[in-house]
Amino acid sequence: MTDYRSHEPLAQTIGDAAVEYLQALVRLDTTSPPGNERQATGYIAALLAAEGIESTVVESEPTRANLVAWLRAENPTGRPVMLMGHTDVVAVERDKWDHDPFGGEIIEDFMWGRGTLDMKNQVAGQLAAFLALKRANLPLTRDVIFAAFADEEVSGTLGAGWVYEHHRGLIDAEFALNEGGGSQVEMGGARFYTCGTGEKGQSILNVTFRGKPGHASTPIPETAMEKLGIALERLREWEPDLTITKPVRAMLEGIGAVLGGNDQAEIRRILALESPVWDDFADLPLSDRDRTRLYAITHHTAVPTMLTAGQRINVIPSEVTLGIDCRLVPGTTPEEWRQLVSDVIGGIGEVELVNRNAGVASDPHSPFFDAIKGTLTNLVPEAHIVPNLIGGRTDAAWFPDIKVYGFYPMLPVDRDGAYEGTVHGHNERIHVDDVRFGARFAYDLIAGFATS
Ligand SMILES: [Zn+2]
Repeated sequence: MTDYRSHEPLAQTIGDAAVEYLQALVRLDTTSPPGNERQATGYIAALLAAEGIESTVVESEPTRANLVAWLRAENPTGRPVMLMGHTDVVAVERDKWDHDPFGGEIIEDFMWGRGTLDMKNQVAGQLAAFLALKRANLPLTRDVIFAAFADEEVSGTLGAGWVYEHHRGLIDAEFALNEGGGSQVEMGGARFYTCGTGEKGQSILNVTFRGKPGHASTPIPETAMEKLGIALERLREWEPDLTITKPVRAMLEGIGAVLGGNDQAEIRRILALESPVWDDFADLPLSDRDRTRLYAITHHTAVPTMLTAGQRINVIPSEVTLGIDCRLVPGTTPEEWRQLVSDVIGGIGEVELVNRNAGVASDPHSPFFDAIKGTLTNLVPEAHIVPNLIGGRTDAAWFPDIKVYGFYPMLPVDRDGAYEGTVHGHNERIHVDDVRFGARFAYDLIAGFATS
């Protein structure tokens, strides 16, 4: 089989292009809402057109633009593979930044700006890879799709969700590469790249408590406030069951295989248990941060975050509403979850489901996952890669029948915490070598996978 992976100077060319595209994309303010992603799709469409690639731009609402482009295989023997991403970004607090969040300035090899990590870097890198694939004119055995969606940061209903519903044929892929993975966890002294092969669902619950109103100068029992307090206490004491999904099982097995010895034996012991509990994980050699993450991806969580109550300080309110952000491990439906929370609260409040997203999980073992693994280890021979369940939510949730993998790696270089807390935070920035590396990875992955 011919090896179509990049070598110098091609790797250099792809890297240069990715840096240039990222800088241009960062300078387009696509803060969502209102998004105005049309600016980004206009820029991308022009680059594609210059290479003779036709793209389709569909707007769910004026300016909320989604772009899709295809590289066609002459005689396809497999179904399409998609490079997907979103062009919108979250808002910034300008005065908290050390450099212009929409400037794309490069200072001491770091490019600064909103979206440099989430996720204009990946959009730019995948675009550079896609254009290089076109130029290379490889004998494709499956079509390659490039997709840039709007509105991911708010909900995706005007982006990926809308395209899936109204233009399904445009994104009819078997496999997709998406955001959500490529970061590293440490266990037992070894570093592992995680590849998202599933993600938790987000369901929002509103719980309404009702009680007698009255004047605050004369306390009365069974008020809405009192019921709220009892419900919060019951939620705090409750521990939802531990659930080990396929991606988490595969992750732990993968880590065990690398660590060997006692750690592997301990992981095997836990995975063999009929109903493991959180205490069983106590002896695993994990940092506090990774332990917290492991908890989140093995449990449904219910975190109260919003409260609507009271009109005046001297009036006992007759109604109080609590908003709870719940993250569900795949396998439990939002309706089942609503019932469970309702039982825990014990009938003192009315539980309503206001947002229903179940979790999703792709099979961690697939030819595309093997290709991701093979491509990474070719570039970084000492790298270990394991599947993972993503605790947050991405556009993957909209595509129940596409096998979406969240993976976009950075170099295995410690950036002294430069990235810590900057995604959706202040001073988001990326080392240009990481921009280059991601783009080269995307090229090598597709050049191999879509020609085999
Ligand atoms: Zn994102």
